[in-house]
Amino acid sequence: MKKRSLTLGLLACSAGLALAQPQPTKQTPESTEVWEPVPRVVTPGNLSPSTASGMTAPSDAIVLFDGKNLDSWVSAKDGSAAKWTVGDGAMTVAKGAGDVRTKQEFEDYQLHIEFRTPAQVEGTGQGRGNSGIFMQGRYELQVLDSYNNRTYSNGQAGSIYKQSMPMVNVSRKPGEWQTYDVIYTAPRFNKDGQMLFPPYITVIHNGVIVQNHTAIRGTTPYVGLPMVQPHGKGPIQLQDHNNPTSYRNIWIREI
Ligand code: MG
Repeated sequence: MKKRSLTLGLLACSAGLALAQPQPTKQTPESTEVWEPVPRVVTPGNLSPSTASGMTAPSDAIVLFDGKNLDSWVSAKDGSAAKWTVGDGAMTVAKGAGDVRTKQEFEDYQLHIEFRTPAQVEGTGQGRGNSGIFMQGRYELQVLDSYNNRTYSNGQAGSIYKQSMPMVNVSRKPGEWQTYDVIYTAPRFNKDGQMLFPPYITVIHNGVIVQNHTAIRGTTPYVGLPMVQPHGKGPIQLQDHNNPTSYRNIWIREI
């Protein structure tokens, strides 16, 4: 009986050889344990009722807006001081102020951002609570009041604007705070400017996945098709679309 088990074991072993890397002759529990390196410790955020996520930033995040000032932001147009209004722990699109962007630029990251479309509903379709979050200053994750507000599906909240509609509509009511959690990997280009692989984005809206490792095909213009433009690091940019949409609790972790 013992001999038969050994034979079967050898047969299983040689079958495995054809499919995977050679196995050491004798496996122990310890032989597949990895002890080095040790993942570094990150302290999670504190519980906070003044956030929609219920948590502040984790210890290794770069805080882009903590409710107090626009020190991390400038005008996207000319790099001058950002002119959005700050109050009640939020930053809000100000009339005629234009887009704002982070001073710092990023490549691959995890982003947490909270937004609130105006409680007082004005306009319809794309005119209702419209803003947007541009990855690397180029690729728009749409922000819109999409609560009982029909528009084209690839332009509603949670869409990659005019490229990829959200899997579901999980929008909260106007005036309520909402969350986006984004995992983004930047495209890479060779020295001739050819794209080796596209940007990829995963978006979780109010705790529900709406984009699952979506390949972004290029820029996200209002008119026309996506354009592929070689680039390096880029900022987080927030859109002024003439609606007083607000943001808070914005933090990012480079990955
Ligand atoms: Mg927009």
